[in-house]
Amino acid sequence: MEDSTMTDVIIVGAGCAGLTAAVYAIRAGLSVLVFEKYMYGGQISVSSEVENYPSIEKISGPDLSNNIYQQAINQGADIRFEEVLSVQLDGTEKTVTTAENTYAAKAVIIANGVQRRTLGCAGEEEFTGRGVSYCATCDGAFFRGKTVAVVGGGNTALEDALFLSNLCEKVYIIHRSEALRGEKVMRDAVLSRANITVLYDTTVQEIRGESKVSSVHVQNSQTDESSVLPVDAVFIAIGLAPDNQIFSALALDSAGYLVADENCTTAIPGVYVAGDNRTKLLRQIITAAADGAVAAFQAANYINVLSD
Ligand SMILES: Cc1cc2nc3c(=O)[nH]c(=O)nc-3n(C[C@H](O)[C@H](O)[C@H](O)COP(=O)(O)OP(=O)(O)OC[C@H]3O[C@@H](n4cnc5c(N)ncnc54)[C@H](O)[C@@H]3O)c2cc1C
Repeated sequence: MEDSTMTDVIIVGAGCAGLTAAVYAIRAGLSVLVFEKYMYGGQISVSSEVENYPSIEKISGPDLSNNIYQQAINQGADIRFEEVLSVQLDGTEKTVTTAENTYAAKAVIIANGVQRRTLGCAGEEEFTGRGVSYCATCDGAFFRGKTVAVVGGGNTALEDALFLSNLCEKVYIIHRSEALRGEKVMRDAVLSRANITVLYDTTVQEIRGESKVSSVHVQNSQTDESSVLPVDAVFIAIGLAPDNQIFSALALDSAGYLVADENCTTAIPGVYVAGDNRTKLLRQIITAAADGAVAAFQAANYINVLSD
């Protein structure tokens, strides 16, 4: 089925980037259709607490998600819970196809975010938000003065360990290989910190606790020896997983992120990318929201020129 209505802007994803783009696009006088495959708010809807967004001292992830969603709805966004399955981005009439329909738009903003890689061990899902975290920048401050573990050995894990070592009494890095993978400068910094201990050749077997995390059970792959580390939190830093295959008409970097700079533009006129899905230094709410604003501004400029 094809919906013959031409919307000004279709936005893929109702996370912070997509919903901010919706607010800005509507306020620029554009008609907006947003598609979301799971839950509005995206990743932030599963965050326990947010304490690093300007002017909001503390808010739960679900409350922040609700606020952004309501703001977009109140401004007039049409948000539909349909997964975008394919896109046709060339020309002045672009189309977006879901299981329900094919929709036409003058401009498309892709704000589909990322997935965080999970360990898949026992206790991980159960304690997510109760000591298991995928974001040290976001949740580290909740564990000031405590003992925590970081799982991973790449740059993100090392950055997280350094960040946490400034706040926490003790930081373990649990790494499955015999050597850390991150850049030398990061490795040197980690190895020189007195309160960081690296456990090499070690895998996580289980995360345990009662109402919140109290220990992580690990095993050394060389000796098969198992041990229990008493910890208050486990930060999983084994990478982000971009999911951009359906947008492969656009350039992807070697890690699978959509290539775009701070202007959020792509090589295809009228197509913009916003949020965690694109090449960038810092993946946070504030940068996602900023991208959403920029992408909507660019889309409005593009449509204004089209209609002249
Ligand atoms: C547990 C956790 C805690 C965090 N805490 C903080 C914090 O305290 N402070 C902070 O600044 N940042 C935090 N972050 C990071 C922050 O949540 C992200 O940087 C931000 O949400 C990125 O927003 P986004 O809109 O780019 O992507 P996302 O939030 O990933 O949203 C993308 C949306 O697009 C949808 N989507 C994907 N593909 C499709 C498709 N094909 N069709 C339709 N919809 C689709 C997804 O379902 C999702 O809802 C946290 C992240 C996590 C996981």
